Amino acid sequence: PTRVRQVVMNLVSNAIKFTQEGSVVLACRRSREAPGFLNLMVTDTGAGIPEHRIATIFDAFRQADSDTTRRYGGTGLGLAISHRIVGEMGGSLVVESEVGEGTTFSCHIPHTLHADADD
Ligand code: ADP
Repeated sequence: PTRVRQVVMNLVSNAIKFTQEGSVVLACRRSREAPGFLNLMVTDTGAGIPEHRIATIFDAFRQADSDTTRRYGGTGLGLAISHRIVGEMGGSLVVESEVGEGTTFSCHIPHTLHADADD
């Protein structure tokens, strides 16, 4: 739970940081495609991430651009660590983004909820 909380905090605080107007939504549901997995999604209507930066977004110390660093600070470590933690849990963390439209980080993690619990 501590690790999941850290990942969620990282994704939500980034979403808030890079969203000037609109919304930030955190959704969590059981994965339909992969039974036994939870799907956590953080969607924002913020700045978005340029396509050529997407490939390196989970690398340590990477930030989208130097302007970002000047304006928002940060270390560029949060996503790298989140990606590693989720991977070590046997899950995955992926991103979809469009500049000017917003970003969705989607995290799949194994869970051990009661097998007979309702959806
Ligand atoms: P930090 O936020 O400390 O710089 P992160 O690893 O959490 O480090 O994020 C790395 C970079 O990814 C950020 O500097 C930013 O450029 C980009 N980024 C992360 N989340 C978002 C988001 N929701 N919207 C736009 N850009 C984002």
